[in-house]
Amino acid sequence: MSRASEIASESTGPTIVAGEILVEIMATEAGHGFLEPLKLMGPFPSGAPAIFIDQVAKLGGGAGIIACVGRDDFGAINLERLKRDGVDVSAVSVSARYPTGSAFVRYRPDGGRDFVYNIAESAAGRITLTDEARRLADGAGHLHVMGSALAIAGLKEIVAYALKAIRARGGSTSFDPNVRKELIDLGGGLFSALVDDADLLLPSGDELLAAAGVADEAQAVAALMARGVGEIVLKRGAAGSTRFGADGSRTDCPGFLVEEVDPTGAGDCFGATYLTCRRKGMQPEKALLYANAAGALNVTRRGPMEGLAGFEALDRFIAGADRAGADRAK
Ligand code: ATP
Ligand code: MG
Repeated sequence: MSRASEIASESTGPTIVAGEILVEIMATEAGHGFLEPLKLMGPFPSGAPAIFIDQVAKLGGGAGIIACVGRDDFGAINLERLKRDGVDVSAVSVSARYPTGSAFVRYRPDGGRDFVYNIAESAAGRITLTDEARRLADGAGHLHVMGSALAIAGLKEIVAYALKAIRARGGSTSFDPNVRKELIDLGGGLFSALVDDADLLLPSGDELLAAAGVADEAQAVAALMARGVGEIVLKRGAAGSTRFGADGSRTDCPGFLVEEVDPTGAGDCFGATYLTCRRKGMQPEKALLYANAAGALNVTRRGPMEGLAGFEALDRFIAGADRAGADRAK
């Protein structure tokens, strides 16, 4: 390893993300697809990078986003929300030609989801390395990358630029490898470069195995640590999460018992909370507890960004909530 792999403190500069800003419009009743007229609800501000960075700001962390929206109401509600919560939107460009990206979602009775996306052919697909994007990256202390955003053509150049600028300042990176298995080999090695470079890896479920290219959890953790990953936090949905340290340590955090209303956004909210707590100097165990609380609270609200919560709300939730498996852990 050529460098110590650790999450840089907030003093190195704000956390930034790049990628899609979307509105989400959801069917109010479970079922399959959109093949007949349905009751819909929305628009809700959305897009994985936007959810992530809004939660960073909610926790009082420095936060900025590189993105593109259309000159329309869908863009306006996103920009207003991000600004209200304290995110630097100076590097969000507004396209006069393309509409803001969108995702229609319907939950299936079995918990699966059907989507109709408009991302690549919307403003979200027009993100480029603008002067404002350079300026934001030049002052940043941490870059978080979503695997899903790598599908946007302009992202690679932005990520490459930001990685270099942030490393030069002694900053750090995190990576959420939420990308379909068959896409991992595309992108000219960027996926594995991002894994190698990550001070914090935030996979969920089988993404851990896919990122490592092996079929066993412990082997995957060992293989990724050997490649220089600083720490790994594995998301396990309602079952909670596990943190693996480079020193071989393992911390399990059972999930909070909640009623799941809308699971979308939990992973991004969780990751943003863990990262921000660590950047504030919190110990891994405490950061993990806050992240679990943030993920759990998020699924109790309809709309991916409606359940985001600051420390005060998280403390209240932790004080009052039941924890699944708490008896087992005693
Ligand atoms: P997404 O569906 O947004 O992509 P993800 O798959 O990356 O999310 P999840 O594991 O679904 O991530 O959720 C992240 C975290 O949020 C979990 O590790 C857990 O702490 C919390 N969480 C998610 N769903 C629930 C739930 N039903 N009950 C309690 N906690 C939950
Ligand atoms: Mg999930």
